[in-house]
Amino acid sequence: SGCITSAESVLITQQSHEELFKVLHNNKTNDKEQKVVVVSVSPQSRASLAAHYDLSSSETGKRLTSFLKSLGVHHVFDTNFSRTFSLLETQKEFVERFQKKEQDCKALPLLTSACPGWICYAEKTHGEDILPYISSTRSPQQMMGSLVKCYFAEQQGLSPQQIYHVTVMPCFDKKLEASRSDFYLTNDETREVDCVITSGEVLKMLEAENVSLKDVTPVPLDTLFSNVSGDEYLSHAGSSSGGYLHHVFIYAAKQLFGEEIKELTYKTMRNKDFQEVTLERDGVVLLSFAAAYGFRNIQNLVQKQKRGKSPYHFVEVMACPSGCINGGGQVKPESGQTPKELLQKVEDLYKADLPVVPEEDVRVFELYETWLQSVGSDRARELLHTQYHTVEKMTNGLTMKW
Ligand code: SF4
Repeated sequence: SGCITSAESVLITQQSHEELFKVLHNNKTNDKEQKVVVVSVSPQSRASLAAHYDLSSSETGKRLTSFLKSLGVHHVFDTNFSRTFSLLETQKEFVERFQKKEQDCKALPLLTSACPGWICYAEKTHGEDILPYISSTRSPQQMMGSLVKCYFAEQQGLSPQQIYHVTVMPCFDKKLEASRSDFYLTNDETREVDCVITSGEVLKMLEAENVSLKDVTPVPLDTLFSNVSGDEYLSHAGSSSGGYLHHVFIYAAKQLFGEEIKELTYKTMRNKDFQEVTLERDGVVLLSFAAAYGFRNIQNLVQKQKRGKSPYHFVEVMACPSGCINGGGQVKPESGQTPKELLQKVEDLYKADLPVVPEEDVRVFELYETWLQSVGSDRARELLHTQYHTVEKMTNGLTMKW
């Protein structure tokens, strides 16, 4: 998916596994300009590679860490850690906006912002009609960018320029997100995420090195940002794209209405990629949430919103049908395997891990206290949030795909 201009496609093609190989090669052959190479791996990519190699997701995470380190990567982290920050900040943002919905007619619905395919479309096609509703919370990838280039660099006594930060993602549009000017460090040419490679590109790296993950000895992921230690593993209850709807709904029901929700009941609307969840009391709808995946459903949602006919307080919006596990950068089906069979396998692997509630991740709270001076501080706002921009309508000479 995407609505990529030709200028943007240059920014995208500059980021590839070949670039990572170049940096690693330079580290081995050139004493000057050495970089500390950090790789942050998304859970959707782990599930995709796990399906390819018939391994569990956690085993894949450990074997991938081992492979990357054998190439000269210094630290391997899990973006689940930064996803917890994204979820906590989104929960807080939603409750604040809900509380001011009487005074501010643009406070709701809150539309999620973790999918750059959707953001690209919203900025270029709908501008001010839609942008005020989009959550300012950074996606897990860009949260990780902040954590690695600011917090981790500081801990290690490094400047952000000394770190080469790579993320492994299910999606090509994440390359576009990483190259947004908002995600350069202030007054600096340094990006928070230097290079994004897809799950499929990781497979190419393994093949280029003639390595099968089946034969690699697993090692633990690095612990500072890693939620994967031993058998403990985070899950993404509720969706294949991070669980925004699930976690924000449970939090808001408790905070705003004192309701303890154990399990959400999803109602399938137009198709399986458009689902609704509501909280009702005495026949009155208190909360109305939805998940809209795939371009068809997004278009429908946007049209409803523009006509003032959207009934929702919160929508998890994702450009790919079935969400991020089905991203365009995932490993392709093998011969004899249908895309549907592969998707089911990836989804099962993705969901097979134990759930951890974001509010219970003590390591994240420690970071809020020590690094950000509390949830919702000005520093947290600067490092964990972003903004969106109206983009002039496309002119001739620029290609736009959707
Ligand atoms: Fe990328 Fe698709 Fe996920 Fe959006 S839904 S972030 S385009 S993989």
